[in-house]
Amino acid sequence: MRDPTSFLRKEYLDLVSQDLDWKLHVLQGPSTPWCIVDGKKVLMLCSNNYLSLSNHPRLKKAAIEAIETYGAGSGSVRPIAGTMDLHKELESRLAKFKGVEASLVYQTGFAVNAGLIPQLAGNGDLIVSDELNHGSIIDGVRLSYADRAVYKHSDVMDLAKVLDDAERHSAEYRRILIITDGVFSMDGDVAPLDRIAKVAREHGAMLYVDDAHGEGVLGEGGRGIVSHFHLSSKDVQVEMGTFSKAFGVVGGHINGSKDLVDFAYNRSRTWLLSGSHPPAVVGACIAAIDVLETEPQHVRNLWANTLYFKKAMGDLGFDIGRSETPIIPIMVRRSDVAKELSARLYEAGVFALPIVFPMVAKDMARIRTIMNAALTTADLDFAIGAFERIGKKLAII
Ligand SMILES: *Cc1c(COP(=O)(O)O)cnc(C)c1O
Repeated sequence: MRDPTSFLRKEYLDLVSQDLDWKLHVLQGPSTPWCIVDGKKVLMLCSNNYLSLSNHPRLKKAAIEAIETYGAGSGSVRPIAGTMDLHKELESRLAKFKGVEASLVYQTGFAVNAGLIPQLAGNGDLIVSDELNHGSIIDGVRLSYADRAVYKHSDVMDLAKVLDDAERHSAEYRRILIITDGVFSMDGDVAPLDRIAKVAREHGAMLYVDDAHGEGVLGEGGRGIVSHFHLSSKDVQVEMGTFSKAFGVVGGHINGSKDLVDFAYNRSRTWLLSGSHPPAVVGACIAAIDVLETEPQHVRNLWANTLYFKKAMGDLGFDIGRSETPIIPIMVRRSDVAKELSARLYEAGVFALPIVFPMVAKDMARIRTIMNAALTTADLDFAIGAFERIGKKLAII
């Protein structure tokens, strides 16, 4: 008889034979600048923990206190019995931090994109998306019944053209939703949100920004990309973000008008039908906002380290692509070279992973480094020295 599960092993082995399977690396201890990965002490250069908040004493203390007061779990989904006063406190603290009318916290950023996008635009609507948007946006768009169009990466002229064409072919769209990443995670470039907002306004479209890599990084005190461009929820009606990167914990969120939040929690099935955050998560997220509001040095250090590392790597002759943020790709083009560079860096005590096809185009392989506020100048010099030595050996520089 035919084995109905034989495809599992076959497809996995196909990936292995092409060296496209994920080899998981194991962290033995907290995510700190120096950490143990697969039994070896290395300098971490590829974590999204930009501000090192995941191991900040105030976050850890808040998580422990929340467990002692509220327990280990919430016991329910948010709309039934899983909304504690702690969840409400996080949302009001976040709205205040962001300077918006209201905020709503989801289990993850992925849950926001998968649950909200298909509700904002459906049958008779149009979604227009940047060609390099994150996979969670792509899945959210796939779950929608709306028509879709893609515009060239960060190309505002092309966006305007796509909107003009759409209107010519169908003047009947009820709603148009434009979606862009704020900071693009593979290249570290920033979407021209001010110019996108202008085009959106001209076409009466809603604008949705996914600021997963801008939270805690860009804007006044790490308030994100909308703050960075001095825009507001009038220009960018849906400002989506995550607590899983610079905030050091886990959780997705949206920020905007009270109308947006009232609509979103009544409609997003990922929010309605999935258990709410455990108290420890909520307590730690509130503490992360406290830290951002009272300890401005973390965002400052992150940017100082970013500028230092970029300058040194540029001076050595490395190509850092179009990075404008603490995400700094070291472009090497060939996949085999990227993998070799990463392996030798690990041997030298630097942990930075290769990004190769299919995550990026075939000839755009790179090592993606991500800066961290807690790295010292000595740490950065250590990493730069390793890149220089190995880069020369591999004839990259
Ligand atoms: C990481 C990421 C997400 C997902 O956020 P989680 O809260 O980790 O689920 C969504 N969008 C972008 C652009 C991301 O980089």
